[in-house]
Amino acid sequence: MEPYNLIENLVKEELTSVLNKYPGICHCEQCQADILALALNHIPPQYVTGTRGLELTRDMVAAKYHEQITKAVSTAINQVLQNPRETCKKLNPTTTP
Ligand SMILES: [Zn+2]
Repeated sequence: MEPYNLIENLVKEELTSVLNKYPGICHCEQCQADILALALNHIPPQYVTGTRGLELTRDMVAAKYHEQITKAVSTAINQVLQNPRETCKKLNPTTTP
């Protein structure tokens, strides 16, 4: 099993729940990717491998970083909303790749 960043999973979950709560936020892939990248840059990665004890580790990491994750995601959303990319699908709905 490849090592992966637990924080990334937690940030993705947080982003999904925030997006569900606030439909006004742009849901396009470009904005979501930008928000994820910005938020992840603010939180140190927590890499894990394998499945043994993973649930326990995940809960511990989730509890420890919960506040940081919530804050990083909302800051990232604000940054992207104020400064959306030209490639944002909402700004350019007619643009085809
Ligand atoms: Zn967008």
